[in-house]
Amino acid sequence: MLETSPWSPEEIVEIANSADEREWVPGAQEGVHMRPLLFDTVRGAWVNVTRLRKQGFVSRHAHPSPVHGLVLSGQWHYAERDWVATAGSYVFEPPGDVHTLIAEGEESLTLFWITGTLVEIDDNGNTVGYADTFTRLEQAERHFEKVGLGKDYVKRFVR
Ligand code: FE
Repeated sequence: MLETSPWSPEEIVEIANSADEREWVPGAQEGVHMRPLLFDTVRGAWVNVTRLRKQGFVSRHAHPSPVHGLVLSGQWHYAERDWVATAGSYVFEPPGDVHTLIAEGEESLTLFWITGTLVEIDDNGNTVGYADTFTRLEQAERHFEKVGLGKDYVKRFVR
């Protein structure tokens, strides 16, 4: 009989669009938040809901590894492309993709599965920073401690 192996990591069941504001980790800009769902420390990937409550420029970056996105609500686009991602859109960002995220409307929510590293670049294409599952994990850890959930709260998202 097939049963869950004792070696299998614990499952994660979370409300993606959390009503608890403390679970939304502030991004680099006003109006940008990330709700963590999984920090995959073995494959070097993470899953979060990105919430944009602003309009215009959010981030210019490169993805050396693939990203999958599913827009839950609202809409956004990339400055370099002529399409708009709207509620229900699936977006595959292939390895090598460079784009500038532009927020639209009042609010958008997008589930992202980001593998590898997100390389932040400036207008001249110079690398100015990066994010990976560990920088995001530590960012969430600091935030959860600050808002009173405790730094160990992040562990529920770590596998
Ligand atoms: Fe991207």
